[in-house]
Amino acid sequence: MPQISCSFCGRRKNEVMLLLSGIDAHICNHCIEQGHQVVMDEMRPQKTADATPIDIKLIKPIDMKRHLDQYVIGQDDAKKTITVAVYNHYKRLMQAKTEDDVTIEKSNIIMVGETGTGKTYLARSIAKILEVPFCIADATVITEAGYVGEDVETILTRLLQAADYNVEAAERGIVYIDEIDKIARKSDNPSITRDVSGEGVQQALLKLLEGSVVNVPPQGGRKHPDQRLISINTENILFICGGAFDGVDRHIAKRINTRPIGFSGDRRLNDSFEKEHLMRYISALDLKSFGLIPELIGRLPVLTHLEPLDKDALMKILTEPKNAITKQYDKLFQMEGVTLHWDTSALNYIVDQALLYGLGARGLRSICESIITDAMFEIPSQAGVKELTVSLEYAREKFGKASSFQLRSVA
Ligand code: ADP
Repeated sequence: MPQISCSFCGRRKNEVMLLLSGIDAHICNHCIEQGHQVVMDEMRPQKTADATPIDIKLIKPIDMKRHLDQYVIGQDDAKKTITVAVYNHYKRLMQAKTEDDVTIEKSNIIMVGETGTGKTYLARSIAKILEVPFCIADATVITEAGYVGEDVETILTRLLQAADYNVEAAERGIVYIDEIDKIARKSDNPSITRDVSGEGVQQALLKLLEGSVVNVPPQGGRKHPDQRLISINTENILFICGGAFDGVDRHIAKRINTRPIGFSGDRRLNDSFEKEHLMRYISALDLKSFGLIPELIGRLPVLTHLEPLDKDALMKILTEPKNAITKQYDKLFQMEGVTLHWDTSALNYIVDQALLYGLGARGLRSICESIITDAMFEIPSQAGVKELTVSLEYAREKFGKASSFQLRSVA
């Protein structure tokens, strides 16, 4: 007697987990799952050109910057550029189809700045203000299809998860792609080397950035043929990329120097340009020289740079924002009934150490942590302690004892 098989895909009974029988046909678990997905897709409200505009909290650039100022210190140029880009992006989303058919193009953003200058924080803060789903992806773990690593689609899996699997919400979320500089191809000249790891990943990313429908595995991981996939349209997702682009200042210097007009006339002026000043002149050309492919640069039309944080900025970060690190510790101690005092000399010491380790604002937290951990360990069991002063001596002693490995691990 012939073995029964699925009437849709032909798999035999012993090849599937489940085979349901109807009047005159059978269906296996794979086809049921696929059918379910088709039904779900069909039932999703269809977005037509003149559908009602999406309800988004549109905040004007100046107001958005004011919000940002409460959390992110300095970086005024970057804030201005980004708030304008974000405002235009969401205006574009709300744009009802007009007669003149002017289509506003998407303004994905690329941020250049040393580690710990607030690139991720800025992107996250924007998403928080706008109340849209947000996720962070690391460009270095993505590989092109077929290689070991994560498929580019898993970035959208994370966004989908951040949106609680609400596809429509995910489709207007913000994705921050970190370490975009690490996937630069090694040579500016594509004919000399074909650097698969870098260029291949850039090509894979293009697919997401340029606005297409991408099939996403809802649980992440690598795609496999029988998996149920969710379609996500990336057209209205805002991508913000960030990277340190170590050494890009050399490309800027070279470009400025070789320009026939402008800065090249005055050598003394050129020589006095420091790295920081050079970064202000960063352009798409420098990113290309660094190793990003032109197609990718074209999809990231808004370019901005974040300033390295100086002592003054680090001190402000430590003490001023709404959720400043010191304020967080104050709160933790308050909950134990203990008042925490920070001596200015101790704060200066913390900032100096952060500068020394070159970790930007990222170092502040781990330095504070190593200074205050002993107290957080002991004080809850010590009745009668009502105050703790973090003096310079106290900070020095505790930080000196902390293992430097702990600090390096945050880099
Ligand atoms: P990057 O992405 O540039 O490497 P992050 O945004 O991850 O740096 O910064 C690390 C942490 O340092 C943030 O979570 C934030 O707490 C703090 N930080 C960095 N820059 C700033 C800033 N300009 N203002 C306030 N806090 C900052």
